[in-house]
Amino acid sequence: MKIEKGCVVTIEYTLKDSDGNVWESSTGEEPWIYLHGFGGIIPGLEPELVGKQAGATTSVTLAPEQAYGAYEADLANAVPRSAFADIDNLEVGLRLSAQTEDGSTHTVTVTAVDDTTVTVDANHPMAGKEVIVDVTVVAVRPATPDELEHGHPHINGQCH
Ligand SMILES: [Zn+2]
Repeated sequence: MKIEKGCVVTIEYTLKDSDGNVWESSTGEEPWIYLHGFGGIIPGLEPELVGKQAGATTSVTLAPEQAYGAYEADLANAVPRSAFADIDNLEVGLRLSAQTEDGSTHTVTVTAVDDTTVTVDANHPMAGKEVIVDVTVVAVRPATPDELEHGHPHINGQCH
């Protein structure tokens, strides 16, 4: 069957930046299974897959706003280094789980370290970047009524 809203789709995928650096890939991992039309994959990719069948391959180049969003400069903040006293491997590129004032957690990336301050950036690492997605459609099937009601696929009949 062809991909349309309300299908459960299995894909193999590789996400790269425009320099060809692989950010994420299903190679060697489980393929990604999502319910088409319910926001289960990055926004710009979904329309590109409509009408494709199992076995189809495609490569899609997505602008930042179709992928992980524009880079927002005010999400990068300098924090006193003393706030990181209990972290011994503090270095550029380290990803940390940070808690906001309302108690929710999000991931930040350390983007600069000096003797007194540490810059942490809450942007997604791929924010502001063009993203190239190589996709192979592995399987397409109709969703069950339960899956449509929940808005996500059930893997082996299990609700996650
Ligand atoms: Zn469910």
